[in-house]
Amino acid sequence: MTLPRRILPLVALLPIWIVGRPPFAQPASSLLTSAYGRSVVLVETARAQPGGVFGVAVSRNRWASANTLLDGRRASLAREATGLFGLVPVALDTQPAEHKLSIFFPGGRGRGGSTSLTVPVSALVRPGRLRTLSPEALASASSQTALGHGRFLLGAIRTRDLTANHSGPLRPPVDQPLAFPFGGTEDYGMVMGPVKDGLMGEQHRGVDYDVPPGTTVKAPGAGIIILARSLVFSGETVVIGHGGGLVSVLSHLNHVTVAEGDVVAQGAAVGVSGQTGLGALTPHLCFSTYLHSLNVDPAALMDASLWPGVR
Ligand SMILES: [Zn+2]
Repeated sequence: MTLPRRILPLVALLPIWIVGRPPFAQPASSLLTSAYGRSVVLVETARAQPGGVFGVAVSRNRWASANTLLDGRRASLAREATGLFGLVPVALDTQPAEHKLSIFFPGGRGRGGSTSLTVPVSALVRPGRLRTLSPEALASASSQTALGHGRFLLGAIRTRDLTANHSGPLRPPVDQPLAFPFGGTEDYGMVMGPVKDGLMGEQHRGVDYDVPPGTTVKAPGAGIIILARSLVFSGETVVIGHGGGLVSVLSHLNHVTVAEGDVVAQGAAVGVSGQTGLGALTPHLCFSTYLHSLNVDPAALMDASLWPGVR
């Protein structure tokens, strides 16, 4: 059979119509694709490092949500305009190697099911730094008060807040380039206990901005103020729950201008930068992020290319 010449261009466009518009605005080299029934599973691996994230999209389906499992840790996908989408955190202690990512779709009687992909985690190479605290500061950092504050902050970070207040990439809390990245080794001259792990520790748990004292600090995303108070190590601290298991921590502020329970929009002022807390050796803002209780690189969560479509 010969197709009429006028139909030929339409036939050539058929694959584009079937697949739809590309879910990620990213070069194909970092994108893994896998079919699951009628659905297409896409995994964006550009930020797949220890402390990074995978962007996972599932197009052509009607599920309202799905769960993922990576190295025994759960994350979730939610319904977005282009299909299911979610970020899967990679724990900071993950070995650079291939890992198994499983996706579980809800529903019985042939509607649900699961699929797995082999995903690569590459090595994280970041500069380290030495942090010299005075003997008095070191004693304070190991005090019962500091341990209690550390536990309190970890509790706020692990808040199981599944209501999505925010969607899309986070935005920088100040209008400045990063001064020190996430993940570099940090040596405080003391062994950090497991209680404090995730707040400070052997690796930098956030990104630092060298802003002058008095700079307005903005909410990286919409959310609820989970914690707004003074803590021994992180000083005047604001914790924002963005929903969907995503939490931001802003440390070493001069003072906070929000209260616990406040609802904030993305970009709303939450405080003013300063140099409070034992961990602030210079005036700066430290911005940390947690996804499903795992400490991840804020730079990954601010990377718009991980989100489906162009925002
Ligand atoms: Zn920092």
